[in-house]
Amino acid sequence: MSTTPGPTTDAEPEAGFRRAPAVLRCWGARGSIPSPGADTAGYGGNTACVELRLGSRRLILDAGSGLRPLGSQMAREGGGVQADIFLTHFHWDHIQGFPFFSPLYDPRTSIRIFAPEQGGRDLRSLFATQMGPIYFPVPFEAVAAEIRFEPLREANTWEENGIRVRAIRVRHPSVTLGYRIDWQGCSVAYLPDNELTGGSYEVGPDWRARLTSFLEDVDLLLHDAMYTDEEYAHRVGWGHSTPHEALELAMEARVRRLLLFHHAPDRPDRELDRMVDGLRSTAKESDHHLSVAAAREGEDIPLTNHEES
Ligand SMILES: [Zn+2]
Ligand SMILES: [Zn+2]
Repeated sequence: MSTTPGPTTDAEPEAGFRRAPAVLRCWGARGSIPSPGADTAGYGGNTACVELRLGSRRLILDAGSGLRPLGSQMAREGGGVQADIFLTHFHWDHIQGFPFFSPLYDPRTSIRIFAPEQGGRDLRSLFATQMGPIYFPVPFEAVAAEIRFEPLREANTWEENGIRVRAIRVRHPSVTLGYRIDWQGCSVAYLPDNELTGGSYEVGPDWRARLTSFLEDVDLLLHDAMYTDEEYAHRVGWGHSTPHEALELAMEARVRRLLLFHHAPDRPDRELDRMVDGLRSTAKESDHHLSVAAAREGEDIPLTNHEES
């Protein structure tokens, strides 16, 4: 996988992003709970947050603890922050960065939050509850930014300025969505929490075929690969997949690049390296020209326009 260096410094602002029209930057790839420490420093300990730069537009996928440093960077860029945040679901590891997103407290900020409906619950109240006085000292009323909440359902397609975002319901507790984003021949799919095989979910009998077609020919797939095969045997129904299952899906859908995501909090860097090596060998033995890596915090990944290549 071709990458450019990690996060830029203040002295060299956003150099990586300027070089390519479409770039993905991972601000958090960990699942469940932030996991700082020497063993996880390589891939990073922040929970799910991914930034997509498509031309002059910025999309944010999930609001895990990685949203906090992203917010600091956006605040440093100055001016009024405008952001579109697409949430996959409301589990802690996907929303816990929200109260710490510093542009929230700036009246010049304007944010749209797209998120799956949860049984008719008002989306604003789901965020306000997270910031209730028992859990958090600053009330939701202290938010100065203008926020618009946009409920999404499965199969919703959102299009604006040539960016198309499609959603599919995935197999995970609560109503959880996965997204596919297409822009000027570049495509990326983001399914951080998805149990591909076991468990029981209300997704219909043809779900696997629909998922494969949803992902067909996507350039870059970020997919849940939280458990090893051995760990998964004791965690069926918890809503997550294994690296082998993610690889099988990527091959089935003819994905070009697979990025393992939602790393287990206890997974040390060396184990993730071994997982990736194992999958690369399997992919090489097959006829699929698929590149495999694990999502790494701070890494910029340019997206390729396959309509031109
Ligand atoms: Zn998660
Ligand atoms: Zn979850």
